[in-house]
Amino acid sequence: MSFPDCAEQPNRFGSGVDLKPVPPILGAGRRRVAPVRSGPPAPLRAAPLTGLIPSFLLVFLFAFLWEAALPAMAKDKEARLLRRHAGKRSTREALEVLESLLPEMVKDQIRIAEIPAPFGSEQARAEFMFHRFRELGLIDVHIDDTGNLHGRRPGNGEGATVLLSAHLDTVFGDEAVTVERDSSSGLLRAPGIADDARGLAAMLALAKVLATTGVRPGGDLLLVATVGEEGLGNLAGTKRLYSKEGWGWRADYFLNLDGIDERVIVNGALGSARFRVVARASGGHSWWEFGRPNPIQALARAVNCMVREPVDSGSAPRRSYSFGRIGGGTSINSIPQEAWMEVDLRSGDKTELSSLEARLRSCIAAAVEAERNWSSIDDPDFDLELVTLGRRPSGTLPAESKLVRMAVEASRLMGIQPVLQTSSTDANVPISLDRQAITLGYGGEAGGLHTLGEWYDPTGCERAMRRNFLLLLALLGEKKLDRP
Ligand SMILES: [Zn+2]
Repeated sequence: MSFPDCAEQPNRFGSGVDLKPVPPILGAGRRRVAPVRSGPPAPLRAAPLTGLIPSFLLVFLFAFLWEAALPAMAKDKEARLLRRHAGKRSTREALEVLESLLPEMVKDQIRIAEIPAPFGSEQARAEFMFHRFRELGLIDVHIDDTGNLHGRRPGNGEGATVLLSAHLDTVFGDEAVTVERDSSSGLLRAPGIADDARGLAAMLALAKVLATTGVRPGGDLLLVATVGEEGLGNLAGTKRLYSKEGWGWRADYFLNLDGIDERVIVNGALGSARFRVVARASGGHSWWEFGRPNPIQALARAVNCMVREPVDSGSAPRRSYSFGRIGGGTSINSIPQEAWMEVDLRSGDKTELSSLEARLRSCIAAAVEAERNWSSIDDPDFDLELVTLGRRPSGTLPAESKLVRMAVEASRLMGIQPVLQTSSTDANVPISLDRQAITLGYGGEAGGLHTLGEWYDPTGCERAMRRNFLLLLALLGEKKLDRP
């Protein structure tokens, strides 16, 4: 999965926005009705204030109250819409089919996890998924030039188009993987068993329900298994989806399955920019050439400049920087000819991320100048170079947006208390382009993510899967969005 770029998962529960707890609507469906009063109606008379307030003020007052009531009414609209879908017999039957598919889903998950798929080598896993897409009756099944697998389930042309995605790649190498399964508890152990083999299997199960039941949503469902989500893949697959002619542009809604926690709705895109700073100089003997510019000293000056920025940025949106790796030099008694370091900058806010990058660049320029001023020798070989290793875009899909409201209401309907979160996932790209996109969890329990000890326990995954299906169904029944 990709909670903070899959590579890291800080504050999965702590940094999100908790929404007010609401009991599940399914099964709880009684409404309070105001008691009916008996007796003769009260005589009609003008309220004392209305006589004093000019009518145009009343119009303003009414408009103000109407405006204030709109968000709550809109929220009710989503809740009603989802309740309507959930109440249909065809939906209830489809949800039963979905639950019956859970054992098959585990089988798919195991087969997927046993196909190694490091970034850049996802092809074998994509081919397995290709055959599964064909078995599900999807059309336009193909793998693009980046390695993304596509498939389409056409609707009747009347509903919104939804793109459902999960990522093919893992953080592991191409070593053979064997999934261990505890026959009594059902617990699965293998690197990548959850992230994102489970997301891919969930995608197949959702598509199978639509293929095998009487549910006939109006919109097109696009399924895409992406490449390059992890680490230095830098969301290559999703970026391709939003290049010219990419399928991303066809979608009204983008749903990404990547994460375990059923409560988490990722509507914030945690952006990042990663760089290698390379310092070069002519180097020399530590005693005889003392005074020449020293690449390691220059890097240290740049780090020292950056760390003058406090950790707490006050009321501004959160941002972070980390010098993750450093190396270089020839020997203890040499002035280095080359040294390097790698730095990771992050923020969920585009402006903050840009200003952090500007700060890094100015610190590097200041470090070069300070080292030159310190040096007694003019060294034409001395300089610092900033090499970009990768970028992931930032952004936020507002909590009031239709997709977030629908996901929140679908969660509540299934008894899930939703939490909005900022994280780095495939949804970063569409969110940064102001598209309706979120990442959802697929439920169950997991641990040891991104380690060889990764495990997944499907116990309790039903609620998340039911929520995901209901949301998908409701979105496919929606009108297409007006877009430029
Ligand atoms: Zn992931």
